[in-house]
Amino acid sequence: MERVNLLDLDRDGLTAFVEQLGEKRFRATQLFRWIHQKGVADLDAMTDLARSLRDKLRDRAEVRALPVVSEQASADGTVKWLFDVGGGNAVETVFIPEGDRGTLCVSSQAGCAVGCRFCSTGHQGFSRNLSTGEIVAQLWHAEHALRRSGGERANANDTPARVVDNVVMMGMGEPLQNYGALVPALKTMLDDHGYGLSRRRVTVSTSGVVPMIDRLREDCPVALAVSLHAPNDALRESLVPLNRKYGIDELLQSCLRYLDAAPRDFITFEYCMLDGVNDSDEHAHELAALLRGRVPCKLNLIPFNPFPASGLRRSPRERVLAFARVLQDAGLVTTIRKTRGDDIDAACGQLAGEVQDRTNAQARLVARRVTVPISSGVPR
Ligand code: SF4
Repeated sequence: MERVNLLDLDRDGLTAFVEQLGEKRFRATQLFRWIHQKGVADLDAMTDLARSLRDKLRDRAEVRALPVVSEQASADGTVKWLFDVGGGNAVETVFIPEGDRGTLCVSSQAGCAVGCRFCSTGHQGFSRNLSTGEIVAQLWHAEHALRRSGGERANANDTPARVVDNVVMMGMGEPLQNYGALVPALKTMLDDHGYGLSRRRVTVSTSGVVPMIDRLREDCPVALAVSLHAPNDALRESLVPLNRKYGIDELLQSCLRYLDAAPRDFITFEYCMLDGVNDSDEHAHELAALLRGRVPCKLNLIPFNPFPASGLRRSPRERVLAFARVLQDAGLVTTIRKTRGDDIDAACGQLAGEVQDRTNAQARLVARRVTVPISSGVPR
């Protein structure tokens, strides 16, 4: 019988599991804290758990971390992990430091079925959904590995200071197409006995799966980012095929509904700047007309990270600045994401980088850890 992966269970799930074992509910909270707050996987090290419970758990459950294929660390503290998720698949997770804390960019699927034209993950097709445990394991590993390497700075309560204080579901995959696994993972991130992240500091980024945006609003409203990338349906359909199913108007209406429950009073719209495709002043004016006064939002312009199969080029810097100026003059809050991490394929939607090569190269998925200098990396 396969053991239950305790990383698959949010606290409600863990409580139900513990009750099935004939144990009291509060044991689940103890266990949850050991796993997520202390990063302990060894049941025997959970010293305040009753021995009887530990014995029952040992037969039926485990904390199943993801094997690390590689780890790249930059001089500025950015770290990128490649995790083996079995079957020749691998996913990437990137930590971007800000002071002594930072943001973790987490993957939700191995590959992606949406197939955005500018995204190397999309070009590689869809392998499979990650389980809740595989999503949580990325945070579990990053948080505790970084704490250990940082010497476990303690806060006033003598609890090691948290390292990851933002999670963005912007790695490989469309998180809202893996909804069943996503929501318990988000709940574990938000749980005060888990990672204790605020709803404003957990962001789901979607290409626009409208029905699931509505469900997320009901089930677990965290911050929402929407990959827009075009100011009209014709252009967006050519970049984000999902637009054929859920057009821009329907998408913006779902964003407005989302804001009724959202922890932030705006939606972040992401816009990947593609040379000669979606980056003219006319596009900027059209985008401003589309959004201004309609959806409270911020715009994040993302310089494209080229990859050979895309046939696309990055917009020149001056073009991005001019595009941003049009939007800002129209009163839209607009930022330009720094281009970092080109050398490690750590950018927007290109986290996969050479993953097809890596994922098919089973021979490379051996326990190898490499630490190489990189400049830095920022996911989308
Ligand atoms: S940008 Fe996101 S939704 Fe689009 S193909 Fe890439 S991973 Fe999938």
